[in-house]
Amino acid sequence: TNILAIESSCDETSAAIIKDGHEMRSNVVASQIKSHMRFGGVVPEIASRHHVEQITQVIAAAFKEAGCDWDVIDAVAVTQGPGLVGALLIGITAAKSLAFAHNKPLIAVNHMAGHIYASQLVERLNFPLLSLVVSGGHTELVYMPSHGHFQTIGDTRDDAVGEAYDKIGRVLGLAYPGGKKIDELAQEGQDIYDYPRAMINEDNFDFSFSGLKSAVINHLHNADQRGETLKQADIAASFQAAAVDVLVAKTLRALDHYPVKDLVVAGGVAANSSLRQKLKIAVAKAYPDVKLHFPPLALCGDNAAMIGAAAQYHYDKGEFADLSLDAKPGLALND
Ligand code: ATP
Ligand code: MG
Ligand code: FE
Repeated sequence: TNILAIESSCDETSAAIIKDGHEMRSNVVASQIKSHMRFGGVVPEIASRHHVEQITQVIAAAFKEAGCDWDVIDAVAVTQGPGLVGALLIGITAAKSLAFAHNKPLIAVNHMAGHIYASQLVERLNFPLLSLVVSGGHTELVYMPSHGHFQTIGDTRDDAVGEAYDKIGRVLGLAYPGGKKIDELAQEGQDIYDYPRAMINEDNFDFSFSGLKSAVINHLHNADQRGETLKQADIAASFQAAAVDVLVAKTLRALDHYPVKDLVVAGGVAANSSLRQKLKIAVAKAYPDVKLHFPPLALCGDNAAMIGAAAQYHYDKGEFADLSLDAKPGLALND
């Protein structure tokens, strides 16, 4: 099975051709980060315009990179949500037009399912599995009894962890998105400030990052008023230690309640070096039989390859969309 997949939920325009849900024949990603940088975040209108300008070329490039044509394509998959409505609509309109013109079935994919399935492009996933989904808009623990079935067992009560990274990045004067830069700065600093680790001991699988975010911002602000200059690298290291501690603790708690074969870390924050390191050590120690998956760095952020990987289980079950398919900006990941 060859699936052409299209992703346009936020600020990446992407197209990929995926064979049998795991073989990446091509994956082309056009990032708009530079256009949003001077605004310190994604501007929806600008995102939509870029998607319109890029999408045809990106799809053509995906065919070229794969070295194939429409005759080998079995279905067209597209991100239905969650994401920015205007951005999603560009990909959905392109996918519908192409599916209609080439007489191929259409598949609607949840963007967060895509993030989880990014790991399947490297190694087959084993079920039941648990996924720690950490991105710009989500912080969730998701239990999957089998392919295509999702139970969100934990969620953030306020900010997503990636959002906290980006807001602190902004206050530190780092370019958007700040997550990667804070990660780099943290490696040069020391964890000397004791920032709050909200809900870490609560017996549930939920998260809260707004208190941590405010604590860091207030600390910077108060130091500034006293005329002190704090070392950015130490702030970054202390913030990252607090955030990662909570992510690791809650994931271990979930593993304790849900015996699984695999643990899949997913989303943009899965690129974080400290999360990778600490989770690897903690899981190896407490759950040596659980297989840990991190997507390769290039597949942590938004891309169409992961959408093509997730589309395969819909294809196998004959779950197709029709041409009335509409964007769902708040689409949830639950059965
Ligand atoms: P969602 O997937 O929830 O709809 P999104 O698509 O905007 O949101 P992703 O593209 O999955 O989010 O991830 C982007 C986020 O990942 C940003 O918040 C970014 O700062 C963060 N990020 C990227 N690299 C790192 C890193 N090394 N450490 C921490 N955060 C990172
Ligand atoms: Mg992005
Ligand atoms: Fe994403």
